[in-house]
Amino acid sequence: MDPVLARQTMVNEQLKARGIKDPRVLSAFLEVPRHRFVEEYLKYKAYDDYPLSIGFGQTISQPYMVALMTQALMPQPGHKLLEIGTGSGYQAAILSRLCRIVHSIERISSLASRARKIHDELGYFNIHIRIGDGTLGLAKEAPFDGIVVTAGAPHVPEALIAQLAEGGQLIIPVGDESLQELKRFTRTKDTVKEESLGGCRFVKLIGKNGWAK
Ligand code: SAH
Repeated sequence: MDPVLARQTMVNEQLKARGIKDPRVLSAFLEVPRHRFVEEYLKYKAYDDYPLSIGFGQTISQPYMVALMTQALMPQPGHKLLEIGTGSGYQAAILSRLCRIVHSIERISSLASRARKIHDELGYFNIHIRIGDGTLGLAKEAPFDGIVVTAGAPHVPEALIAQLAEGGQLIIPVGDESLQELKRFTRTKDTVKEESLGGCRFVKLIGKNGWAK
């Protein structure tokens, strides 16, 4: 497998073909070596059109889902972003190419350290991973220009809306354990606008303001 070719095919057939248009987003997907974020035995499937296991009962999301969330977040070069659910570190890597700084929270420490190591090897030094409960957000680094939650929530954690900057967006899958709706909340001066971006299926967001287990 030639990874460069595999990424071009992925971008054309999975992203562009389904309406991902933002040229900056597409170029981040051409740049980031997705195969580095999966285990050795799955590398040959790294650019395929589905999620893959990363151990601990967790998954790296389907490329299209990562692209859809990234495009919906509208990251800009000056932005400070927060991701909840580092997992493999792939979504954080994509975001790091498109903004100034990415903070990412992961509850499973082995996943956090594996992702950190890959980011270091790739020289993606604007990503800061913390171990903890992302349903509480990250108050000491707030406000954020954008927050993306990459695990399914039973409801929207209040802290995440509170930690958005004015004009900031929160992208979050909300629903039951098997099916969720991808939502975008945009914070303006005194209101919060809510939009639906379609159905999706994520692993559970587990924490104080998420699922209990
Ligand atoms: N963004 C990831 C996909 C992660 S899967 C990627 O690009 O690979 C969802 C991740 O969310 C899992 O690793 C899971 O452990 C983590 N998670 C679930 N609940 C969490 C919480 N409350 N805080 C932080 N991480 C959480």
